[in-house]
Amino acid sequence: MTDADDPTIDDEIVARARIHAREVISEHDLEIDRNALEWTVTTRARRRAGACRWNRADEVATIVLTRQAYERYDWETFAGVVRHELVHAWEYQQFGESGHGERFHDLAATLDAPRYCETFAEPRYALRCLGADCDWSAGRHRASKPVKAPGGYRCGRCGSDIEVEHVDSGRTWTTASGFGGAKAALGKRW
Ligand SMILES: [Zn+2]
Ligand SMILES: [Zn+2]
Repeated sequence: MTDADDPTIDDEIVARARIHAREVISEHDLEIDRNALEWTVTTRARRRAGACRWNRADEVATIVLTRQAYERYDWETFAGVVRHELVHAWEYQQFGESGHGERFHDLAATLDAPRYCETFAEPRYALRCLGADCDWSAGRHRASKPVKAPGGYRCGRCGSDIEVEHVDSGRTWTTASGFGGAKAALGKRW
């Protein structure tokens, strides 16, 4: 459970991914220019565990890793995501384009990387501490009691009130009536 702006875990993700990439590149003698490969972490991807962006002008590939996937997966699975995105980076650097075709498939198989981008389900609800100095949060897939009536619960870490967010819409509430109101207001989008 980390703060949305906590840099520590993002640094850890990038550090581990870079080390893994370096090992894979040297083990398979991949033609990837690591000086033209950048890494970043996002918390905004709702379903994709990773992505690779290509800057045509600079010829720099940027691998974007999703923090929630890192937190949810074991390292072996996440390392597969890193290798998958590495195949994209290789295609971009070598051919200026990338997809999930035969060429991709061949190298992905060699690297024991999944052929398709991993997807994962973002929790429907997020519980969050309202304490000024506390960064506790947690995801929930179902409308559990704290989701339905957060007013009856306190942050387990600091004792402050908590709020709930409906992740898809960004709507938040802190009480049982707030939950009812949000549900009614969202209707089919709930
Ligand atoms: Zn992909
Ligand atoms: Zn707290």
